[in-house]
Amino acid sequence: MSSRRYPALGWLYANTERAGECLVWKGSRSQRGYGQILVSARPNRYELAHRAALRLAGIEIPEGHDVHHRCGNKSCIRVEHLEVLTRREHMRRHRQEVCQRGHRDEWRERPNGQRECRVCRRERQREQRRAV
Ligand SMILES: [Zn+2]
Ligand SMILES: [Zn+2]
Ligand SMILES: [Zn+2]
Repeated sequence: MSSRRYPALGWLYANTERAGECLVWKGSRSQRGYGQILVSARPNRYELAHRAALRLAGIEIPEGHDVHHRCGNKSCIRVEHLEVLTRREHMRRHRQEVCQRGHRDEWRERPNGQRECRVCRRERQREQRRAV
């Protein structure tokens, strides 16, 4: 990707750290766990970092559309991990989401913004207790 064409996307990426394939925003986070950028002060206005990344990459987010994190990491701003979906499609996508072992709908969020399956977590803890 040409960093000359989108200098600000390069700037955004420079404020991330790698976590696997993800580029995790290092700056402040919204209450819901998304990366955010201060765009104006008094009153403070923020733009969500992953939305800014899309905008700077020339990808529009039409009215009524959501941005979905394919990687499941809310604070990731890597454009390749984001997908613009209608709200309806977005909800459908989340309802379909299953973990590697096929459990549904029981996601919890870890402090680093990544999600994990609650059922798998419980099973893992049980196995660990048994191993002691
Ligand atoms: Zn990601
Ligand atoms: Zn989503
Ligand atoms: Zn699971």
